[in-house]
Amino acid sequence: MKTISEIQQGYKDKEFSCTEIVEESFATIDVHDDTLHAFLSLHQDTALEHAKNVDEKISKGHPLHPMEGIPGAIKDNILIQGTITTAGSKILENYKASYSATVMKKLAEHGAIIIGKTNLDEFAMGSSTENSAYGPSKNPWDTARVPGGSSGGSAVAVASGEAVFALGTDTGGSIRQPAGLCGVVGLKPTYGQVSRYGAIAMASSLDQIGSFARTVQDATIVYDAIRGSDTYDSTTAHAGPVIEPTKLSHDVKGLRIGIPKEFFIDGLDPRVEKAIREASQTLKSAGATIVEVSLPHAPYALAVYYIIMPAEVCANISRYDGIRYGYRDTSAKDLWNTYLSSRETGLGAEVRRRIMLGTYVLSSGYADQYYNQAQLVRSMIRKDYSQAFQDVDCMIAPTSPTPAFKFGEKTDDPLSMYLADIFTVSANIAGIPAVSLPCGFAQEDGQQLPIGMQIFGKHFDEQTILSVGYAYQTLTDWHTRHPDI
Ligand code: GLN
Repeated sequence: MKTISEIQQGYKDKEFSCTEIVEESFATIDVHDDTLHAFLSLHQDTALEHAKNVDEKISKGHPLHPMEGIPGAIKDNILIQGTITTAGSKILENYKASYSATVMKKLAEHGAIIIGKTNLDEFAMGSSTENSAYGPSKNPWDTARVPGGSSGGSAVAVASGEAVFALGTDTGGSIRQPAGLCGVVGLKPTYGQVSRYGAIAMASSLDQIGSFARTVQDATIVYDAIRGSDTYDSTTAHAGPVIEPTKLSHDVKGLRIGIPKEFFIDGLDPRVEKAIREASQTLKSAGATIVEVSLPHAPYALAVYYIIMPAEVCANISRYDGIRYGYRDTSAKDLWNTYLSSRETGLGAEVRRRIMLGTYVLSSGYADQYYNQAQLVRSMIRKDYSQAFQDVDCMIAPTSPTPAFKFGEKTDDPLSMYLADIFTVSANIAGIPAVSLPCGFAQEDGQQLPIGMQIFGKHFDEQTILSVGYAYQTLTDWHTRHPDI
């Protein structure tokens, strides 16, 4: 499996053509995707057409952008004009996007080749892809296990070599958790660093688009291509017209790296804890100082998330009413029943559960007790991070409490599924950047299961977390291992 820079070098040296690289992606999809089910739709004709143009450029000796001619997969809740975008929901089964997301325009400007749209939990709600209306994706390390979610398809596409990079969205961990469970790199940038325009909204104050790749270096190249301010998303931070590429350094000498003690709790798989402790030793031996830090309100993060997120979900999902978008039950007798029946048939159980939770926490009489209270605790969690970051440059923590779990293991108990997000939600609540990268394996049922480590950073300091990740990958070889598919 090649990295972005290896592919670019190969193009330069005429070792292979762009068409060959893209054909290789589709050949891998052909062989494996019936089993893995990473993709909901393929854009084969346009991808091959695009590859031909890149090959022409190469033959004329024109220089290529770092993303040019690189095959990537896009989570199916990010719009590409004129193509179907389902968000993993039946209600959008036939929905054709009427415009493209800003990130897609940027990828097009940079010449990246889009090979298809990837599977996800319906409207990005879930941690296993089992909530997709189109069936789950499978973990390439052990197909009896989930790939994580909600961006499971994107993680599987990259881990299995179907795509070189992918885009996902992360509202409470949906990039980092599947990246962790599939043994790839997943970056959730700072809230405001990447435009959300054209990403189907789940919980708008938490949602963020980010990148999947096999190495930190590749994830950084993709991130540099998609970030920047956008007049169509007023929450993007102001950035100059020219985006300077992130400068990765593998020198961690003198860096202070925090280990938040609240993340090492009962229920954390000992194999995961051991891998994280060993990773901290690796960074220490490279010259970093490891310090224990405290985030006193971290234990409330999951509760805060599961109040604020459904409150925003119920507002955002109200637009799917059977009239304006997607599926409509045409047999309903009047307007009211059209709404009721289209939503009941079009939306899955988890989405409906969250609509009800959200409506409840916002209802008069309960809003003070739940929603307003959660907002107060949210600001305390943010404050915890800014205080801790006065002492350290970044922090490391597990991505998930356990390696990949089996299909069906958590579907009957939504609460146990929500617990899979326990270490990821606080970065969204605080709006800080976080990257997950492989840091070890656990052996189970004779299979190797990847373990992920997160690196948290200060607002807008992707540079530090990506550099620490890059440094870690120059010291270890976890990221070079691939599933035996
Ligand atoms: N797994 C989390 C949830 O179910 C996170 C989802 C996400 O980040 N989109 O809400």
